[in-house]
Amino acid sequence: MPDTTLMTIPGQVDPVPTSRDITPRSDGRVDLLGLPRPRIRALLEEAGLDPKQAKLRAKQLFHWLYHRGVTEFDAMTDMAKTLRPWLAERFVIGRPEVVEAQHSSDGTRKWLLKTSDGHEFEMVFIPDDDRGTLCVSSQIGCTLNCTFCHTGTMRLVRNLTPGEIVGQVMLARDSLGEWPKASASPRAGGDLGQPGTTPTETPAFAGDHDHDEPGEYRADGRLLTNIVMMGMGEPLYNFDNVRDALQLVMDGEGLALSKRRITLSTSGVVPMMARCGEEIGVNLAVSLHAVTKEVRDEIVPINRKYGIEELLQACADYPSANNARRITFEYVMLKDKNDSDADAHELVRLLRQYDLPAKVNLIPFNPWSGSIYECSTPERIRSFSGIVFDAGISAPVRTPRGRDIDAACGQLKTSAEKKSRAQRDREAAENETAAA
Ligand code: SAH
Ligand code: SF4
Repeated sequence: MPDTTLMTIPGQVDPVPTSRDITPRSDGRVDLLGLPRPRIRALLEEAGLDPKQAKLRAKQLFHWLYHRGVTEFDAMTDMAKTLRPWLAERFVIGRPEVVEAQHSSDGTRKWLLKTSDGHEFEMVFIPDDDRGTLCVSSQIGCTLNCTFCHTGTMRLVRNLTPGEIVGQVMLARDSLGEWPKASASPRAGGDLGQPGTTPTETPAFAGDHDHDEPGEYRADGRLLTNIVMMGMGEPLYNFDNVRDALQLVMDGEGLALSKRRITLSTSGVVPMMARCGEEIGVNLAVSLHAVTKEVRDEIVPINRKYGIEELLQACADYPSANNARRITFEYVMLKDKNDSDADAHELVRLLRQYDLPAKVNLIPFNPWSGSIYECSTPERIRSFSGIVFDAGISAPVRTPRGRDIDAACGQLKTSAEKKSRAQRDREAAENETAAA
């Protein structure tokens, strides 16, 4: 792939393909989406603005990009009229391309998206009474092969860039129509393009921009209130890009989503968990799914590298884990595999042993064509949940959402990659035989 290079991931994991921080476009322009403010500023300087101008313009651009969701430079009414075409000649503000948008009967929405180099990935929006959660992908495919997960049957195509990750949030806000409107009473130097006002040009802007207050996602006003890194891929195997993207999402002058409303789910990449807490600081969810080495080795194979004890110790050490911000342990309910009363008692024992501020999320297994498991019976799930609950640990059963459009947990897999590795190998062998 011309746009990927090998990235070394800290810890004993194999390098995976990742995109360069700026993917060159065929027209030579640079996509600003996903770039941190200092990078935007440096690009403006490289393009010829003096340092002071570059600093100011970078700040304005950042605001237009992440606070207002603007994709055209022409809409940036506080930029000098001559500056707008100058920017448009050199830069673009991209979005992932939407290949298909689906709506489930339960309100869940799924988008099939495409990167500029032609790879498909998915994001899902799950509306609830008091919140709206966007399930964001971090990779195209996954290097790990959890046996119950559809994404796990895909090979890893590549890591998503910060722009492609934050781009999912931007696109969701575009689709939900949730960008803030301009302030009704712009303050000095702070015109935001309200109809009937005169765009304020460069000189009036010297010093600072003075836009409306940074947006804040609120359950009462907006649909998109929460983000979970639970789409395709293992976010801690794409640590830098996920961190950079989430920092843009949390930036108070941009999307301004609180870290308390963001959850990152990992299958247990132990060497990256401390950095996740320190450098990102979001809520942690851990895909535990089994309480014995034998079963976890089988269904979450990363367990052979980082075992249950090591994983739970990393959870106990996770910065900011406390009773107010408990760690979520995800547990997929697989019939006759991990769902006995003894498993539930062992789960309680382990969580107590490590003194973990925990809640357990029981996920009924979502089947996909070719999967080898069945979901546990409702009675079994109730019994399991009851044991954990009686031990004083909350253990809600997650209602599957969007099953009719294959949007539920573990069902994500792009149509472009429907074949299993084994199937591809078989076909390649057959082709070779046919050619010989
Ligand atoms: N790679 C990360 C995040 C993506 S998966 C991780 O593994 O944590 C999001 C959650 O869905 C994980 O807990 C995952 O184990 C679970 N999951 C995967 N396949 C599933 C399936 N078929 N049914 C129910 N949950 C599934
Ligand atoms: Fe990858 Fe998570 Fe699926 Fe495992 S459950 S294969 S880590 S996406």
